[in-house]
Parts: sequence; structure tokens; C-alpha cells
Amino acid sequence: MSRADRLVELLRERELDSLLVTDLVNVRYLTGFTGTNGACVVTPDERLFLTDSRYTELSKQQVTDFELLEASQALLGELAARLRGRAGFDDADLSVKAHAKLASEVPAEVELVAAGGLVEELRAVKEPGEVDAMRAATKIADAAYSELQGAGLVGRTEREVARSIVRFLEDSGADEVSFPPIVAAADNGALPHAVPRDVEIPAGTLVVIDLGARLDGYCSDCTRTFATGSLPDRQVEAYEAVHIAQRLALDEIRAGTSCKEVDADAREVIESRLGVTFDHGLGHGVGLEVHEGPRLARTAEGALEAGNAVTVEPGVYVPGEFGIRIEDLVIVTESSCDILTGFPKELVTVN
Ligand code: ZN
Ligand code: ZN
Repeated sequence: MSRADRLVELLRERELDSLLVTDLVNVRYLTGFTGTNGACVVTPDERLFLTDSRYTELSKQQVTDFELLEASQALLGELAARLRGRAGFDDADLSVKAHAKLASEVPAEVELVAAGGLVEELRAVKEPGEVDAMRAATKIADAAYSELQGAGLVGRTEREVARSIVRFLEDSGADEVSFPPIVAAADNGALPHAVPRDVEIPAGTLVVIDLGARLDGYCSDCTRTFATGSLPDRQVEAYEAVHIAQRLALDEIRAGTSCKEVDADAREVIESRLGVTFDHGLGHGVGLEVHEGPRLARTAEGALEAGNAVTVEPGVYVPGEFGIRIEDLVIVTESSCDILTGFPKELVTVN
């Protein structure tokens, strides 16, 4: 069944007669279109795609399962006329201004209904081809860690290492990086979203390196924390706690695992061993975007499904001192999970 056909099933469940899709990632997922301006309308018996004249040729090549409409005026106005009945729109994507315009242009009998998240629901369960792309993107990321291990870290600045990661990923076949790499030594590692500094990495510390490659549109996301020499006992113990928490979470992950409980269980390991916890969620979905559904977090609802692609990334952050995070990307299966990330998780020393 095509993605649009599966979307129509969701529309029936929600009692919607049509759906306007404006988020470009969702448009890409449904139609294959990679340009920067386009939208589509899906109804049980129509698949309509609209872009502007810059993308007429590209859309003819990429969008094969949708009827291509000529844009003679603004996209939204053109598509508004095609909506019917109870018409869903993405309330997370459309601005208040765009919504007002849409409301003024839809046919009189159309009822606009906030219906964000429907395409995202489909995207959360990966098809084999999507898993292949993510597996390949993760292999490139694994190679980047091996390259760093060989090249060394001590005496290089965080920024220079981050730049070398970007070059390596692109030279290894990635379309681009999934996000700017994080290279954070010592106290900088205590910031989960640290920005690489113009500061040399010293010996005898921990370095958090979070990186990802994008391939055929699909992202990988991985973190390893390296030692640059011998470490104080407390840091070795903290690493061990994060490693154990990560292993435990991986062991729990399968179809049906509660997104909230796996987060709580990993957190509990770190809390009981070190008396601290981490502020971010245990993990997030990955796909065409580096952060998408489902989430593994304290406030997450629901359970994992076979085909979900999620990260598992517990951490420890001691302000002013150090940080540790270990992150794998996995595909959820009926009985366990398929761990895409291959680089070792034992504490690796890189001088
Ligand atoms: Zn990451
Ligand atoms: Zn992540």
C-alpha cells in the first residue's frame, strides 16, 4: 500500500474527507518532492500536488503518484479550492496568518479541522528502504569515530575536530551532516547541546562527540564519549553507570515497550548509582528529520511499535566538570531491537 493510501486510512479513522499537507518534510515523505516550496491535498480519490514554476521540471521527475497542478496563484489559495468536507490541516505548521487566508478561500461547505501529526504517525514506522538508508548513514557515522580514534584528540580544538567530522562525513558519501557535530571536552561536556569551542582538548578528560550523517534524506544520530588518558575514579564510575543504563534500555526495547517506562528505568539506574539524573529524554525518533516521533521521555505517551527508529541516549552531566552520553540508533522489532550503531561502547581512550 502506498504512503498516500495509508494516509487515507488514517483520514477515514479521523472522519476527515480531505487533508492539506504543507509541512515540507511531510510533503517529501508522501510525494518524493525535495524542493523548498510545495504542498499537497489528499482525499480518498484524489492526490494533488502543487509547487511554483521554479520546480515544475523537478516535480515532473520526482512526483509520480500525484496529479501535478499548475500554480497560477499562491499555493495555498489554489489548494484551498480543492479541499472538501471535513478538511484537515496541519495546525503545527500553518501560521495564524496562513490559516486565516486558507479559511477565506475554501469553498463555503468546507469545515477546516486541526489535524497535525497524521503524516508524522506514518513516518514513525519505517519501511525497509528507509531502514536501509539509515543503516548506511549510521555506517558512515561509525567510520567517523574510527577516524577520530586514529587521528587523536588531545591538543586539537573542539571546533577543529568538529570541522574535520563534517569533512569526513561528506567525503564518505553523506549528503550532509544531520546536525552540526557536538565536540565537547571536560566542563563543556556538561551541556547536553554544547557548542564546540576554540579550546584545545586536554589529556585526562572526557570528550562527548555527538554526530550524524544524512543519506538519501535519512539521518543517523550517535554519541560516543571518549577518554583522553586516565580519568578520576568518579568519572570512570559515571561512565559505567551510563553504559549500564543504556544496555538495560536496549534490552527492554521491543514492540509494546512503554515509552515512559523505558525512560524511567534507564534514569533509575543512573540515579541509584550516582545520585543524579539527566534533564533530556532517553531518546527520540529519527528519520527524514533528526528529531521526530516517537519520544522516549518522562512525559511520552504510548508504546513502541515494530519499525520505529529511535535513539537510546542516557547521559550524566556534572556542571563545571564533565559530561557523558552514549547514544545508539536502533530499529524496534517485535521481539527486541536492531542496533544500527556499531562503534564500541566500552570506554575508549583516544590520545
Ligand atoms: Zn545525538
Ligand atoms: Zn539524539
